[in-house]
Amino acid sequence: MKVEIVTTGSELLLGQIVNTNAAYMSQRLNDLGFDVIYQTTVGDNHDRMKEVLEHALSRADIVITSGGLGPTQGDITKEVSAEIFGRKMKLHAESKRRMEERFAQRHVVWTDNNLRQVTLPEGAEVFLNYNGIASGVVLENNGKYLINLPGPPSEMKDMFERSLKPFLQRKFGFKHIIVSKVLNTMGLGESLLETEIKDLILAQSNPTLALLIRPAGVIIRITAKADTREQAEEMIAQMEEKIRQRVGSYIYAANDENLEEIVAKLLRDNCIKVSCAESCTGGMLAQRLTSISGSSSYLDGSIVTYSNDVKTKFLSVDEDLLCAKGAVCAEVAGHMAEGVVQMFNSDIGVGITGIAGPTGGTKTKPVGLVYIGVSGKYGTEVTENHFGGTRDEVRYRATQQALFMLRQYILKNIKK
Ligand code: ATP
Repeated sequence: MKVEIVTTGSELLLGQIVNTNAAYMSQRLNDLGFDVIYQTTVGDNHDRMKEVLEHALSRADIVITSGGLGPTQGDITKEVSAEIFGRKMKLHAESKRRMEERFAQRHVVWTDNNLRQVTLPEGAEVFLNYNGIASGVVLENNGKYLINLPGPPSEMKDMFERSLKPFLQRKFGFKHIIVSKVLNTMGLGESLLETEIKDLILAQSNPTLALLIRPAGVIIRITAKADTREQAEEMIAQMEEKIRQRVGSYIYAANDENLEEIVAKLLRDNCIKVSCAESCTGGMLAQRLTSISGSSSYLDGSIVTYSNDVKTKFLSVDEDLLCAKGAVCAEVAGHMAEGVVQMFNSDIGVGITGIAGPTGGTKTKPVGLVYIGVSGKYGTEVTENHFGGTRDEVRYRATQQALFMLRQYILKNIKK
C-alpha cells in the first residue's frame, strides 16, 4: 500500500516549526509495512491544498494529513478534503458532546467557532480525540483513503496509535513488518567502513544496509522486512553476525545506547577510577561522564587546563615541550593524561588538547586537530584526530573519541 503524508500549515513553510509529525508518521507507517512514497507540505491555502491533496490521491492509495483541524478560519483541511470527495459538512454529535464535556471540566466557555472542530464530512469514519477537541476523519472513495489527523504532535500521535493503527490493521492487515537495528561505530570513517562491508551492501535486498554519518560516529542501519517480528529479528541477527566478523571491534553499541553509558558500565564493572584533563573540550568529557547517575563510583575528578601555565603547574606538562611544540601536540596530550593520573591518583587519565576553531588554526595545526591521550599502568596511548564541523561539533567529536579510547583501553588491558 502506497501512502503519501501531507502536512499542512503555513508555520511549517515559514520554518517556524520543525515537521516532526511527518517524521513520526513515516517511521511508524514504515514499521507497519506501508510504503511511504511522498511527504508533502502545503500551507493553509484552499486552492493549493486542494491541488496537493488531489495529486496525492492520484499517486497513493492512502493520503494522511496532519494539521488544520482547529477552530479558526485558517484551519481548512477537513473542508478541502470533504470538497474533494463531494461530501457535505455536518455536526458530529458525539464529538460535540465530548467537546462540551471537556470545556465544562475546565470551566471554560466554548464559542461558535469551536463547532468547526466537531463539524465533520458526512459519511466519514471518525477518530475521537482523547488529547484535544478536533476529531480526525477517514474518507473513502473508490478504494482511495483520505485521512485527516490533528496537528499538535501529542494529539496526532495518540490518534495514530489509538485509532489509525487499528483502522489500518482492520482494512489492510499488516502484510509484513519492518524492523531496523542500528550498530554504532567509531574509529573507521564512512568510506573505510563501506569498503570493509561493500559486498554485503551491494548484495543487499532484504535485509538492507545503510551507512549514515552521525556526530557520534558512523552508524550501520540494518532493516529487514518479514511476516513476523521474530523472523525480521532473525534476519537482522544473521546480517549483524556477518558485519561483526568484519568490523566488530569498531562497533561500540546498538540502537539507542550511548557511549558514556557503555563506558560508565565498563568502569563500574571493572572497579576503575578515571580522571580527565581537558583543554579544548572545556569540561565536556567530564560533563558526559557525570551525566550518568552513580558517576562518583568511577570518576575521581576533572580539571580544565586551558593555559600553558596551568598545564605545567597542575599536570607537570614540560615547559620546554610547550615552548618547542606548542600546546597542541601528541606529547602534551600524553603528558596531560599522565599528569592527571598523578594529580587524582586515578587508574586511568584522559588528556585532550586541540583547536576547536573556528579561529586559531594554522597551516600545520588546522582547526579540528585534536590530540587525545589515555594513560594508566598499561602505558600511555595518544591519537591524532582531525574533526570537521563547527566548534561545538569538534568539541563533541573529541569527547566521543576520548570515550571510545577509554573503552578500547579497558577492553584491551583490563576487562576481566
Ligand atoms: P489546533 O486544533 O490546535 O488548531 P490543528 O489540527 O488545526 O490543531 P495546526 O493548527 O495546524 O493543527 O497546528 C497546531 C500546532 O501543532 C502548531 O502550532 C504546531 O505547534 C503543531 N504542529 C502542527 N503541524 C505540525 C507538524 N507537522 N510537526 C510538528 N508540529 C506540528
